[in-house]
Formats: sequence, structure tokens, C-alpha cells
Amino acid sequence: MRPFFVSFAACMAGRKIIITIDGWSSCGKSTLAKQLARELGYVYVDSGAMYRAITLYFIRNNVDLDKKKEVEEALRNINLEFVFNPQTQRSEMFLNGENVEYVIRDLLIAEKVSDVAAIREVREFAVAQQQKMGAKKGIVMDGRDIGTVVFPDAELKIFMTADNAVRVERRFRELFAKNPNITIEEVKNNLEMRDYIDSHREVSPLRKAADALELDNTRLSEEQQFHKALEWALERKKGKK
Ligand code: C5P
Repeated sequence: MRPFFVSFAACMAGRKIIITIDGWSSCGKSTLAKQLARELGYVYVDSGAMYRAITLYFIRNNVDLDKKKEVEEALRNINLEFVFNPQTQRSEMFLNGENVEYVIRDLLIAEKVSDVAAIREVREFAVAQQQKMGAKKGIVMDGRDIGTVVFPDAELKIFMTADNAVRVERRFRELFAKNPNITIEEVKNNLEMRDYIDSHREVSPLRKAADALELDNTRLSEEQQFHKALEWALERKKGKK
């Protein structure tokens, strides 16, 4: 691979932009988003963590997803915050003052989150907060509807894909490290279910924005995909859109 070096000055030059990264579950969106944010000195927002934290609250409080009033009442009692942890050097998800970053990654949450995220009121609640976070630009946000609904005017939109088998393997390794009882079948079923619900729901279904650049990372290393995306970002920062 040709050597790739981008100076600090190049990363800081140009206008501040919004970068959106959407795509299927376990495509490596958050890895790429974090790398870009670090390199550009931008804020990184994991929008999926918000839907996961809302799901955790709904499970703990037995919220009936079919009852609009119950959902609305629950949302009124939810406060979501990203708090930077200097030890992990990451922003972590806080639900009503409690750090839930670890627990929201559990398969139990993954099994319910797509049903919760399909509810109109839930999406309105999350999207309003996401849009506020991007008001000053200089942000990289990953999710499912970021380029289509949250920031339709974003300067750079990336849509990530990868072969199913590769995605299952990646997510399995991640979850197995925390829970050795997990099976590859469970992970595969969960990814397929979430992709189906996320792309077939009525409100803000997962789809590629017409002006998004596609990044298939099946055969790319993390480093290669990062270099490609960084090149796009630097071009857009110069104003080439
Ligand atoms: O990104 P992550 O896999 O953590 O997202 C968990 C779930 O949250 C997704 O499967 C999807 O149902 C929902 N989600 C969404 N819109 C987003 C981000 C996540 O519907 N922008």
C-alpha cells in the first residue's frame, strides 16, 4: 500500500463539516467514525447508543411499545448524555446520570432495540437531540438515518457495507470476548433481524442517501478504509462537494 501521511495542518485546514456514516449493523461504522473524529479533531456521536439506552430504560420500566402514551411518558423521564471518560478516552453513554455504556452492548438490548427504534416518538426524541449536537458542525455521527434524515445537507455522507459473513464474524468476536456463552447463530440471527427491521420500518428506514459515497470494507483493512474516508473528508473540507 502506498504510504499515507496527512499533516496536522491539512486536517485543521478548510471549513468545518458534518460527516455522516450510515449502513448495516456491524459494518465497522463506529470504528471508522472514531478514527475520523480523532484525526480531524471533531466530535464523535454514536447515535445507536442513544437508541440502545432508550431500549434499556423501556425494558427496565416495562414500557409497552404498543401504547403511545406510555412511550411518551417514558421519554419524558429519559435524559441522555455523552460523557467523556479520560480513562478510556471515549465518550460514554449516560442514562439519567448512570453510565450504561457497557450494559447497552448486551445481546439482550440488541434483540429489542430495532423495535424500539422503529417507534415514531422515539425517533423524534433522538433526532432532535442529534441535530442539536451537530448545530456547530465539526461532527462525525454514525447510525442508520443520519445522512437521510438527521443531516440531509451534510457535506460528506458515507454508506458502509460488508459481506454478511464478515459482519457476523466481527460482531461475534466482539461479543464473545464479553460473553463466552454466546453462539455464532445468535449473533447471525440478531444481525439479520435488525437489518430487516431497520430497512423495512415506516419511519426513517435505513437506506443509502442518493448523494452518499459507498464504502464496502469486506476486503479492506481498518487502515485502508480510514485512508479512503479521510481523503474524502479532506476534499469536502476544501469545499469540493
Ligand atoms: O449502531 P448500533 O448497532 O448500536 O444501533 C443499534 C440499533 O439502533 C440499530 O439496529 C437500529 O435499530 C437503531 N438505530 C437507528 N437509527 C440510528 C442508529 C441506530 O434506528 N441512527
